[in-house]
Amino acid sequence: MKKHNFSAGPSILPQEVFKEAAAAVLNFNNSGLSILEISHRSKDFIAVMEQAKSLTLELLGLENKGYQVLFLQGGASMQFVMLAQNLLESKAAYLNTGTWANNAIKEARFFGEVIEVASSKDKNYNYIPKNFEIPADADYFHCTSNNTIFGTQIKEFPKTEIPLVCDMSSDIFSRNIDFSQFSLIYAGAQKNMGPAGTTLVILKESILNKVSRAIPNILNYNSHIAKESMYNTPAVFSVYVSMLNLKWLKAKGGIAAIEKVNNEKAALLYSEIDRNSLFEGFVSRLDDRSTMNATFNLTDETYKEPFETLLKEAGISGLNGHRSVGGYRASMYNALPIESVKLLVEVMQDLENQN
Ligand SMILES: *Cc1c(COP(=O)(O)O)cnc(C)c1O
Repeated sequence: MKKHNFSAGPSILPQEVFKEAAAAVLNFNNSGLSILEISHRSKDFIAVMEQAKSLTLELLGLENKGYQVLFLQGGASMQFVMLAQNLLESKAAYLNTGTWANNAIKEARFFGEVIEVASSKDKNYNYIPKNFEIPADADYFHCTSNNTIFGTQIKEFPKTEIPLVCDMSSDIFSRNIDFSQFSLIYAGAQKNMGPAGTTLVILKESILNKVSRAIPNILNYNSHIAKESMYNTPAVFSVYVSMLNLKWLKAKGGIAAIEKVNNEKAALLYSEIDRNSLFEGFVSRLDDRSTMNATFNLTDETYKEPFETLLKEAGISGLNGHRSVGGYRASMYNALPIESVKLLVEVMQDLENQN
């Protein structure tokens, strides 16, 4: 039986996408060949790559605005290195909202000075710092739009004249924001876009070529732009399935339509967390709560076993919190049906009624 998958990543994708991907593993486009055994330079695969790029720009409202779309490898973690290597000449400003922001900061320090403009470390990252100053002479400002581990999400991005760089790994394509305020956006595919293996990078070419260091070709955005994401063999299957998923999203009505459902799902779960006395939310300020990853705890650990038994019986999977936070984390990415959230809420109510 198909489970209700609340996993933080790699995560749920639409059943339709799984089916189409499975068929293409056996026979891609009626070619008599598997998607896994064809050349990345074949006409059919180049069309997949082109479609993935154009769907990305279309869904984000970034067409004809000077953006390049790349599908690279190495995950968001590789981008922590690459973006700094390509953009950091003297100093860069970073907002520290958790584990991933921290890793980004650590990698950037290999290339120059990092100014941490604000941090929520004092409260184990259970809020988003606000009203900080961004130095006008920094090369760029980096933030993480959604903190997958802690369940916080930036709702309003700071205004600044310097290039805005954003790690959107866990909430890209989930909500409408003005994506054109960013000079560089990146996202590991495996949270809300596709399977693990590829990383989406969207950047304005105008921010490149401002650093004096020599950059190895494989780490240089210019190489990947020049070779249209085929400087080396791309993650063919991951790009293909991501493309299918973006196509699915477009058919659903795009980001505006999915955002409505995402908001409904989040409201449903958070209102139960707040209502039910056996549970408490992890995030301290309600307006910082993520619509993608809801983090919460039991108010009394003696309910741990009965709760987890009920979850198992209901076929709910992937609800354990990250080891650095504990408790529970319900990841409600685009592909998670609202019915799964309703079921989780019922289980929470069952636990309350039993006790
Ligand atoms: C998962 C995650 C990462 C790490 O992604 P990898 O692809 O494993 O390197 C980075 N940033 C955020 C916000 C994430 O959710």
